[in-house]
Amino acid sequence: MKKKLINLYETNLPLNFEIESIEMPIDDSIGKPLFPMRISIEIKKLSSELFLCKGKIEVSFIDTCQACLNETVLKLDINIDTSIKDELSINKSEEVIDESHYQDLKFFDLDKLIVEEIYLNYPSVTYCPGRVNDEDKNLKLEQKVQPFKKIRDLLD
Ligand SMILES: [Zn+2]
Repeated sequence: MKKKLINLYETNLPLNFEIESIEMPIDDSIGKPLFPMRISIEIKKLSSELFLCKGKIEVSFIDTCQACLNETVLKLDINIDTSIKDELSINKSEEVIDESHYQDLKFFDLDKLIVEEIYLNYPSVTYCPGRVNDEDKNLKLEQKVQPFKKIRDLLD
C-alpha cells in the first residue's frame, strides 16, 4: 500500500476515512497488532491553522499477560478527539506544546496520527481478560454473568 500524504491546507475538508487497514507502522514496544484494523475518522477545519480529528480505531493486539505470562488478546476501542496543528508553528510561537497532534500539515500522514493515538491509549500493563485494572468492577460483572467462571478457572 502506497502512503498517501495529504496537504491539509489545500484539500477539501471535511475528509472522511472508513478504512480496514492491513498495515500500520507500529514498533515492538507494544503488542503485535492483529489486522485488519478498523478506522473511522473525520478531519475538519476549525481555522486556517487548526484542524480537528474525530473518530474511532478498533484494533486487537497479541500481548503477554503480566500476571500469568501467557499470550492474550487485547482489544482496544479508541475514541479520537484531538486537534491537529502544524509542527512548523511550534518554533514561531512561544506557545507551550499542548495535547494536540503535531505534523507538517502540507504532508499530513494519517498513519502517524493513528499510530500516535494507539501508543497513547495502549495500557502500560496488559492482563488476560477477567483480570483488568478495575478488579472489583470486573469481579461483580463476572459474578453476575458467569457465576461459575471462578470455579472453572480453578479446574483448568
Ligand atoms: Zn494472565
